[in-house]
Amino acid sequence: AHEGILRRQSLRESAARTYARSLPIVPVRARGLTIEGADGRRYLDCLSGAGTLALGHNHPVVLEAIRTVLDSGAPLHVLDLATPVKDAFTTELFATLPGELAEKARIQFCGPAGTDAVEAAFKLVRTATGRDGLMAFSGAYHGMTSEALAASGGAQHTSVVRLPYPYDYRCPFGTGGERGAELAARWTQNLLDDHKSGVPSPAGMILEPVQGEGGVIPAPDGWLRRMREITAARQIPLIVDEVQTGVGRTGAFWAVDHSGIVPDVIVLSKAIGGSLPLAVIVYREELDAWQPGAHAGTFRGNQLAMAAGAATLAYVRANGLDRRAGELGARMLARLTSLAAAHDCIGDVRGRGLMLGVELVDRDADADATGARPAAPELAAAVRDACLDRGLIVELGGRHSAVVRLLPPLTITDEQADAILDRLADAITVAVR
Ligand code: PMP
Repeated sequence: AHEGILRRQSLRESAARTYARSLPIVPVRARGLTIEGADGRRYLDCLSGAGTLALGHNHPVVLEAIRTVLDSGAPLHVLDLATPVKDAFTTELFATLPGELAEKARIQFCGPAGTDAVEAAFKLVRTATGRDGLMAFSGAYHGMTSEALAASGGAQHTSVVRLPYPYDYRCPFGTGGERGAELAARWTQNLLDDHKSGVPSPAGMILEPVQGEGGVIPAPDGWLRRMREITAARQIPLIVDEVQTGVGRTGAFWAVDHSGIVPDVIVLSKAIGGSLPLAVIVYREELDAWQPGAHAGTFRGNQLAMAAGAATLAYVRANGLDRRAGELGARMLARLTSLAAAHDCIGDVRGRGLMLGVELVDRDADADATGARPAAPELAAAVRDACLDRGLIVELGGRHSAVVRLLPPLTITDEQADAILDRLADAITVAVR
């Protein structure tokens, strides 16, 4: 079955399909961290639905929440009408929101994916400010619909101004550290204050507190606070994309909680649906200027996703899984740091909570002024393949696809964390030979 399914899928599916290219597995069963393939092989899944599975695969509380809705006779499709399930989800979500948002945020349910919520955020701030342009950061990833794509990494788009992100290892200002982050903040500030720059005041600025697809790059808290000050002083709505960082992943319930900033708009998806599709924006009520009907869509009321999501949010909160992710992530990062000391093909290891990255570099090339070596995408692909051979699913990210990313469920045990790192260490040793 395994080979036949892979062969038929690869014949029929669009050439654009991505994950299936690098991960030739046919998952048939899964629980927690583990996926079982049609060939009977078992894998530790550190991709976790690209960071979606806060509680891992098929967590009992998620299955129970879905079953409860199914057994209740409640309608599964009601567009975006008010229902008890939606009420419970929204109440649970609001209880977690930062600062004054918990008291008086507005919520907009969006199309089912993260990218839909990003589009809605852009539309919202454009309506509220009457302005058009957007500011986004180099290396960002916000989705694949056209505006979200325009705000992402390498895409060029006239209405999006690209700003430097505080990427410590490959610091755009050649200094790194706090100074590099401060220079990045000043660059943005200067651009906004330079009235001859030709850059009009934007409708909004969008950022990820930790860039995920961009190569697991945590922004320093001080830099985030500077972005908050800079945008607030100029009445520019700050949109924070927590699609990947949310729901405990980085060691706080929302990644913005580390720095204490309160965004004007937060974009949420992935884990908030408890493994089913769900995407929302929450925002300050002052921004709620759009006309009734301005943002619609058929699939904004997925009752199963809301039930699974509410159960996930409640479980993470009740069990302190955000704190647990922070502690376990710090221990895993310490081990990755030792691994980096033993392998000069590892240029950098970094992350926050259970969002970890290992950047592979060309060990034979010269380092630049800040000690960074050129990225090694082929080596990274070899490491990913060697991981798969050892029953570990990881994916690559980063500007050059040279960063191995670990996004395990927040529920993993210490032993599972060790098993993940043992396999990764072994895979790196084999791949560099
Ligand atoms: N924003 C961020 C930060 C993401 O990581 C992603 C998905 N990786 C998206 C937006 C887009 O979400 P989706 O794939 O559900 O459209």
